[in-house]
Parts: sequence; C-alpha cells; structure tokens
Amino acid sequence: MAPKSDIEIARAASKRPIQEIGEKLGIGSDHLLPYGHDKAKVSQDFINGLDGRPDGKLILVTAINPTPAGEGKTTTTVGLGDGLNAIGKNAAICIREASLGPNFGMKGGAAGGGYAQVVPMEDMNLHFTGDFHAITSAHNLLSAMIDNHIYWGNAEQIDIRRVVWRRVLDMNDRALRQVVTSLGGVANGFPREAGFDITVASEVMAILCLAKDLSDLQERLGAMIVAYRRDKTPVYARDIKADGAMTVLLREAMQPNLVQTLENNPAFVHGGPFANIAHGCNSVIATRTALKLADYVVTEAGFGADLGAEKFMNIKCRKAGLSPDCVVVVATVRAMKMNGGVAKADLGAENVEAVKAGCANLGRHIENVKGFGVPVVVGINHFAGDSDAEVAAVKDYVSGQGAEAILCKHWAEGSAGMKEMATRVAEIADGGESDFSTLYPDDMPLLEKIETVAKKIYRAGSVTVDNKVRSQLREWEEQGHGNLPVCMAKTQYSFSTDPTRRGAPEGFDLPVREVRLSAGAGFVVAICGEIMTMPGLPKVPSAENIRLNDAGEIEGLF
Ligand code: ADP
Ligand code: MG
Repeated sequence: MAPKSDIEIARAASKRPIQEIGEKLGIGSDHLLPYGHDKAKVSQDFINGLDGRPDGKLILVTAINPTPAGEGKTTTTVGLGDGLNAIGKNAAICIREASLGPNFGMKGGAAGGGYAQVVPMEDMNLHFTGDFHAITSAHNLLSAMIDNHIYWGNAEQIDIRRVVWRRVLDMNDRALRQVVTSLGGVANGFPREAGFDITVASEVMAILCLAKDLSDLQERLGAMIVAYRRDKTPVYARDIKADGAMTVLLREAMQPNLVQTLENNPAFVHGGPFANIAHGCNSVIATRTALKLADYVVTEAGFGADLGAEKFMNIKCRKAGLSPDCVVVVATVRAMKMNGGVAKADLGAENVEAVKAGCANLGRHIENVKGFGVPVVVGINHFAGDSDAEVAAVKDYVSGQGAEAILCKHWAEGSAGMKEMATRVAEIADGGESDFSTLYPDDMPLLEKIETVAKKIYRAGSVTVDNKVRSQLREWEEQGHGNLPVCMAKTQYSFSTDPTRRGAPEGFDLPVREVRLSAGAGFVVAICGEIMTMPGLPKVPSAENIRLNDAGEIEGLF
C-alpha cells in the first residue's frame, strides 16, 4: 500500500476542541477567541497579564542549506514539540503561517509532514484566521492614501518618481510586478510607475512579527519610509497619517493563533515574513507568549542556518531580548548525498562516500551556530531509503566536529521516533550551557556589519560594494539608522551567491548590489543577488489540480 499523503494523515487526525489545547497551557476559554472549533486567537489582555512570569527554554530548529531533496525543518519542529510532550515535558511549538499564493503554484504546505504535522492543515495553508488578508489590507490602505495625498495637492511634496511603497497581494502574479497606476485622465490622479509584491514581502508583515504590542506596532508602522521628496528627504507613513488606521486593521491579526499538532499538543502559528528581504521567523509576540506558558518552546527559522539562524539570532533575538538555549540543525542523508555530488534521480542508491563528501556543508553550519555561543545537536531527519551505513557516516562526521547527531524518525512515527532527541535537547536546555551573544554590536558601522556576516558566516574572501551603496549606507548612518542590524538577502542554496555552489565554499566574493532601509521593521536589507518579491506560477500550476471532491474535501493541495 502506498504511504498516506500528508493531507490524508491530517484528515484522519483526532483533533481536540481548541479550548482543551488552551487548557494545557493554562489559557482559560474566556481568553481564547475561537475561529471555529480547532483554531483560536489568544487575547491581548491575557498576554498583557503574563508580564513578569519566568520564561521557558527556547530551542531553535534550523538546517543545512536547502536542496531539492528536502530537509524537513517544520516537520522536525513539530516532531520535537510532540517528542518533548511525550517524555513528560510541557512544550509548545511556534511556527510561521503559510502564504496562500505559492500553494497554487507548487505542491507543498507549511504545516510539517507525515506524522509530525499541525492541524487543521488545509485552513493553515489557505485563509486561516485572516491575518494575511488583514496585512494585505493595511498595506494597501497606505498605498491608497499615498496616491490620494498626491491627488489632493501633495502637501508633503512627494516626488512621484520616488514612491517606494508598492502594493501587495497574496497571489503569485508576475503580471503585476511592474505596473502604471492612475491611467485614464485627470480624475484618476497622476500616472506613475508602481508594482506589486506578495504579501509576505510587505514591511507590514515584518513589523507585525517584531512588534512587542499594539503601540509598538503603530510606532513602527509610522516609521516606515514610503517615498522621497525632490531633495531626497524621506516621507514616512506617519506623514501620510496612515499609522492609526493601519493599526486598527491589524488589531486582531496581532493576536497569536493557537492550533494543535496531530498529537494534540499546542502550536502557535503566527506571522510569516520572507526569509530573504525580511527575517523569516514567526512573531515575537507568539514566541514570547509561548515562553511564558510552556517550559520548552521549539521554533523554526526559514532557509538554512546561514540565513535563518543568523537572522533569528542577530535580528529577532537582539530586538526581542530572547536568548536560545539549544539549536537543532536538521540534516538528511539525501541532502548530504546531493552536497556530495549525487543527482536527485540517483538518491535512492546507497552511497556512503557521497554522504561523507557532502558533510562539509553541515560542518560549517555547526561551527557557525557554535559561534553564537549556543549548544548544537544535529537531527538526522530519517527518510525511508536511508541505509544504516549512511546514517552512521553522518554521525561519525558530526562527532568529529565535536557535536552529536541523533536519528529522528518523527515523519514516520510521530513522537515515538523523536524520544531520544527530545530527551537530549531537554537535557542540554536545562543544563544552562548556552552563552548566547549576537555576532556584532549595535554600534558597528552598517558596512562592517554586512562584512562581518559575509566573512564570519558565509566565509566570503571579499565583499564588493560600489560607491552608490557605500554613500547610501553613510547617509542612513547620518540620519540615525546606523544602529540597526542588517538583513541579508541572498540565495538560500549556497553559502555563496551562486546557488549551484553546494558544500562549503570559501574565499569567494560577495557582491552587494543594493541596500534598502526597512525603517519601521528596523533593519537594513543588503541585497546580494537576484531576489524575487513577487513570484510567478509554474507552467502547470498546482491550481489546475486543486478541487473539492464529492465529500466536499479539498484535493490536490498536498
Ligand atoms: P522545511 O520546513 O525545511 O521547508 P518541511 O518540514 O516543510 O521542510 O518538509 C518539506 C516536505 O518534505 C514536506 O512535504 C514533508 O512531508 C516532507 N518530508 C519531511 N521529512 C520527511 C521524511 N523524513 N520523509 C519523507 N518526507 C519528508
Ligand atoms: Mg518550514
């Protein structure tokens, strides 16, 4: 019999009413705002009342550089949360919400897989509790107010060629990447070039995920740069007086969503910023709430550890005052083989030599994470075809690096396949070994921050920055933005900017093409390579096969 698909497993789940899941964390049902029977938001009032409580242990799940073989960070995050609960601990997980648009392009959800999933997965991958729709509305309200401001006399003297605030949509729609707005005559305003990004690329998304509370949210929304004047001075969202109304639209969305795993353990699913032009982690408010309510919180950062973990540490932890107690680096035998030069079609055959050759990529990530002062365990996410000799090769390599690797079978077995890992992670987190520090101080000049990440994390030999970028960075420093962390946008497939260079390359040049200031979110984005902020659909989008079956169930989504 063919193994069950993710959606078949999810459908067979015996979910508990969401109030029962809330009870496990001590959230009374009066503080849960239910969205149906299996989803709820946790009320802001309840969250405000948690101040002063001690925090649980924070565990980050990250990975090697992604390969087409698939790594399974979310699956491992869910599995580890269930594993910790299975050994008697009080644990919760925190992951990102899914973007709706990409689900209609390629198959693949954001709720984990196999027997380590969050449910209801269909909802989570579609409209969920409407957070992304709220973000889309808040973002586009500001867009409309900017054009309206220009229409009614442009008191702020916005240079209409320098409006940097675009529009967003949660859809893969390449036709909207570059557009001209206000066509059709005097009554429609002043024609200008504009464009659309996907909602998860909105600065509003990044802000929702970094804001402490609603007043911090409004403050940050107001600080976003929306345009420049002829004299190049910035115009802020607060100059357009949009920050108040945007906050109103985001009030519900700021409250974290509570759902459950297949094993009925609590899962916070909240926020979902891009991991390239933004920081790629779930919301600070969800993580903090979970830390107040659970003894162990397992969370995930997007892409490989060079981008995801680096930003988790240098952006999220720095800004939110968080400090991770343990990091799990997910690796797979298949990905090691691909890093060792094996083609995707040949991954089924045992190849211990290729596994050994591919381990250098893993080794680099282990070293990098240790550089933050946080203890590391490697989780080998087991795939059905992995041989014992291949698994042993990864374990040997990792112990040679002064770390340990544990085989995890959560995808096939749920928590039962994760007990060894859960026990070890709890031990490490409780051991208090972590001595976390960020990679660079706030007061380091912006260019030096970029160079520090490039050299210490990626192992670039040089960083090429042209004069235009240099003077832009200097200008922002003069305007008082010099204390911000940097958010690197580069390919997730390699330490270098060349996606085909697997393994552990070093000594390459890292070109910084462009820099952008996300003044509300509070970081400077360094763009190193081609970065897409509005994806397109593939030739045969999965939307062609998505439909409701006779039982009214969704087919073709996963
Ligand atoms: P990431 O978070 O790293 O992007 P996910 O956890 O979302 O990865 O997993 C990506 C896909 O790989 C999912 O469809 C999941 O079902 C599948 N997958 C993960 N682990 C395994 C495994 N051990 N065996 C088979 N498929 C897996
Ligand atoms: Mg994931």
